Amino acid sequence: MKRSMYGRYGGQFVPEVLMPALNELEEAYERYRDDPRFLEELAYYMKEFAGRETPLYFARNLSKKYGTKIYLKREDLVHGGAHKLNNTIGQALLAKYMGKKRLIAETGAGQHGTATAMVGANMGFDTEVYMGAKDVQRQHMNVYRMQLMGTVVHSVQSGSKTLKDAINEALRDWVTNVENTHYLIGSVVGPHPYPMIVRDFQSVIGNEVKRQIIEKEGRYPDSIVACAGGGSNAMGIFHPFIENREVKLFPVEAGGCGLKSTKKEALHSASLCAGEDGILQGAHTRVLQDRYGQILESSSVSAGLDYSGVGPELAHLADIGRIKPCNVNDEEALEAFYELSRTEGIIPALESSHAIAYVMKMAQSGELGDLVVVSLSGRGDKDLETVFSLKKKENRRVCL
Ligand SMILES: *Cc1c(COP(=O)(O)O)cnc(C)c1O
Repeated sequence: MKRSMYGRYGGQFVPEVLMPALNELEEAYERYRDDPRFLEELAYYMKEFAGRETPLYFARNLSKKYGTKIYLKREDLVHGGAHKLNNTIGQALLAKYMGKKRLIAETGAGQHGTATAMVGANMGFDTEVYMGAKDVQRQHMNVYRMQLMGTVVHSVQSGSKTLKDAINEALRDWVTNVENTHYLIGSVVGPHPYPMIVRDFQSVIGNEVKRQIIEKEGRYPDSIVACAGGGSNAMGIFHPFIENREVKLFPVEAGGCGLKSTKKEALHSASLCAGEDGILQGAHTRVLQDRYGQILESSSVSAGLDYSGVGPELAHLADIGRIKPCNVNDEEALEAFYELSRTEGIIPALESSHAIAYVMKMAQSGELGDLVVVSLSGRGDKDLETVFSLKKKENRRVCL
């Protein structure tokens, strides 16, 4: 099997002009991934800039209420409020070692753009982020955040003016400027070697959990639950446990609005659950598409889970039965958002609320076992406006 493939998924479906850039990136990664100087610098940024390691927090109140031991991996405490910085630090450092002067990225909700802007400012790159015009309007605070850190934000006017158009523009930029530019992809998606590189940088999450849970419980958990958009926090926490087959792994996708009628609509951000084979962002994976192969726009209450595809390795792990894809809808996620805030004094991101919701839903079934670790991928401060406006809608009994 080719190294760029995960079962039948993955690969490099990009214009020929980009192949040298992908090869250069892969070679650089192979060279530096075990280089002591690179690893020392990576460890420095992870500790001093990102604030690692993050606690594995025993959620005492939630555990009592739901009758199973629940630990939260506190990625919400990483600088910037989510796990995304783990990856942008790693890739920016790699770009520096490769002698690149410029970072580009695309962003949907603006979270990955913001994490890229942070490392861009800190490590001294010229940083430019592509964002659909619609998203620029919807996420103006993140646009301002990026600008504050010196990043140029391009508002993309083509197509549906959302994430997939921003992806196209970023790829176009990369083709033109590949000599001095690193394209910083934000999840375990895109052409090889990105899914591997992002997984490895995010595996710091699972590696810490492995150490911490042995310290606290003397054994591995029965199950690990993580929300999945592209799948980087899920792959990051799952990967170190893949060989430990007694540990069940649950990626939770966004089921969107549970009240809509057709299956596809009801599972509107759930590429693992409802997607079909297709090509997205240069990789073969499971993609939400219509019967003509046109990419469907995803929709979820949580902007960060709004991606029409999912990482190829996750698609493969689902195929071979090593992970068990599941989903919860907007309403259930919102309920979990309130529940964790009230019981533990921790306001979770709406993305992470999907993982919490699944635990709340399944705790009593026995499916998760007695010891559960949940990836709390981000904090909820960014979502307060969304939740606040949903609360008003709720009173009018419309679909969330
Ligand atoms: C972006 C984001 C996600 C989804 O991205 P993955 O690559 O699936 O991890 C999940 N949680 C938070 C807080 C995010 O910002």
